[in-house]
Amino acid sequence: MTTISEEFPFADELGPFKVIRIWEPGIELRAMVVVDNVAAGPSIGGLRMAPDVSASECARLARAMTLKNASAGLPHGGGKSVLWGDPRMAPETKERLVRGFAAAIANEHSYIPGPDMGTNEQCMAWVKDEIGRAVGLPRAIGGIPLDEIGATALGLKAAAIAAQDFCDFSLDGARVVVQGFGSVGKHAARFLRGEGAIVVGASDSRGSIADPAGLDIDRLLELKSAGKGVADYDPERAGGVDAVIDIECEIWIPAARPDVITEDDVGRLKTSLILQGANIPITSGAERILHDAGVISVPDFIANAGGVICAAEEYAGAGEAATIQTIQEKVGANTAEVLERSRSQAVTPREAATVMATERVGKAMSTRRWSVF
Ligand code: NAD
Repeated sequence: MTTISEEFPFADELGPFKVIRIWEPGIELRAMVVVDNVAAGPSIGGLRMAPDVSASECARLARAMTLKNASAGLPHGGGKSVLWGDPRMAPETKERLVRGFAAAIANEHSYIPGPDMGTNEQCMAWVKDEIGRAVGLPRAIGGIPLDEIGATALGLKAAAIAAQDFCDFSLDGARVVVQGFGSVGKHAARFLRGEGAIVVGASDSRGSIADPAGLDIDRLLELKSAGKGVADYDPERAGGVDAVIDIECEIWIPAARPDVITEDDVGRLKTSLILQGANIPITSGAERILHDAGVISVPDFIANAGGVICAAEEYAGAGEAATIQTIQEKVGANTAEVLERSRSQAVTPREAATVMATERVGKAMSTRRWSVF
């Protein structure tokens, strides 16, 4: 007989609890759900749609959700799902696949889907319509539109405020660089400006722009809503996509893609504090180098938890104002705790955060019948 680790290389003391493969030949629906851990409650995690998703990606993302949800003290475990397909397919084909996916998990109450790469509020409305269970819904059916209110960026602002106590600068007058002026990045720029910070650099997939005296955020927002790039701010002074890595600042915010900072380019950063808006934007080797150099890097599952906190509040029926308050309180408190642990135990913030989150999952598991803790 094969062992569990031979059969399932991701298995450990936390999970995964269930792995579900879905194949519906009639509509060529190929999908997978990983319910990683449900000790704290039914799992919440996004439905990702892309042609090249993989089972291991699904399992890793589900684990990340377990840690993120536990860190945020949500009554939810972690899960994730992937649906193979090009998200830009014809809308009616996409609706059929998403509804087919929802119907296939109708009785899987341990998993509550939310939006992720390739899916959005509209997709979640289809899921809700099919099975009565989804988060990240449109406002018209009781949702709190997290990208519209800037839920994740609200958390980044709270992380910045909390991190000030561990840095030698104050937010008022601090220089900020934002890599990825999208849903997360543009709201982060706006909220940090509200705290007195000056945004001196921004980028998107088409280029970058910098001004040591500060960029006009409203103009950048206007350009983006007109479908233009940040480089259109001043084409003569525009830089390449990666030029933001070299800009001197107090706060650097990756809000674009995974693995943008590696051991090879980490030495280019000239900053004191990194707030990880994107998921896994910095390799663990690069995080170690930053830590040794005295740069504080607040890890993704602590800093960018605002989106899932918003989703869980929506699911619990909370209103928008209370949700905004909760996001800031939770992310601020967690950032302070992680940085305090990192300082007192001389470990990286990610190591401190992983121990903190695992302790919290362990506490939830100790209340369950088959606990290993
Ligand atoms: P988005 O698509 O709205 O924005 C991404 C931005 O990054 C776009 O402006 C794009 O042009 C830019 N970009 C792409 N490649 C780039 C590159 N190489 N250099 C510079 N910019 C680049 O996406 P989003 O919702 O803002 O998410 C950004 C990141 O944050 C993703 O990693 C996502 O997984 C993570 N995240 C998002 C949320 C959320 O609430 N939206 C929550 C948690 C984590």
